Amino acid sequence: MDPDQPTRSRRGLLIVLSSPSGAGKSTISRMLLDADSEVSMSISATTRPKRPGETEGVDYHFVDDSEFDRMIDAGEFVEWAHVFGYRYGTPKAPVKQALRQGRDILFDIDWQGARQLEPDFGEHLVTIFLLPPSMEELERRLHTRGQDPEDVIADRMHRAGDEIDHWAEYEYVLVNRDMDACLEQVQAIVSAERSKRVRQTGLVEFVRDLIGPRH
Ligand code: 5GP
Repeated sequence: MDPDQPTRSRRGLLIVLSSPSGAGKSTISRMLLDADSEVSMSISATTRPKRPGETEGVDYHFVDDSEFDRMIDAGEFVEWAHVFGYRYGTPKAPVKQALRQGRDILFDIDWQGARQLEPDFGEHLVTIFLLPPSMEELERRLHTRGQDPEDVIADRMHRAGDEIDHWAEYEYVLVNRDMDACLEQVQAIVSAERSKRVRQTGLVEFVRDLIGPRH
């Protein structure tokens, strides 16, 4: 298939899902990707070391500082930012390709990333922020997933407030009390955003065929 040919008659969405870590962002992302073949995940590059269980090219492209510098200089990112002492960036090529093909991309990026995408991609952007039901529940989830040592959890809890501070910059804000209910809300948002008239590029022809030429 020619990668430059649109596969369907609509514009693709760039769906940004942000939250403090532990609010369910990764789980909701995985569930959405499994349920919807029109959405694919943007895989960021990061200078952060790989965690146990993470896979190169699936979770992130793990790169060193000099490679990250090279990618910035070569203009390979649509956005990049410092997060938790490391650098994270969104590669440009898959974003451009998905938009050309009318497919959707899901971004697990922070508020700095969402802000940087706005000027160039605002018409395609759908921004969603997930809030935890309480800070106690956030901490409980961070402990339950067993991925991080105590000091890292304490650090993440400390930073959660800073991340949550940016909730009002997002179009949609969901309180994630229950994963399945939250997924349904995300899917409803995606469905409504796809249905917007301006995103349905094939409508003029469709309606012309439907009712024939008018005056
Ligand atoms: P983690 O290290 O836990 O995988 O991610 C830490 C934070 O970095 C998360 O809030 C995540 O959303 C954010 N992040 C991951 N990739 C990117 C990216 O490419 N750009 C930006 N701005 N943030 C990112």
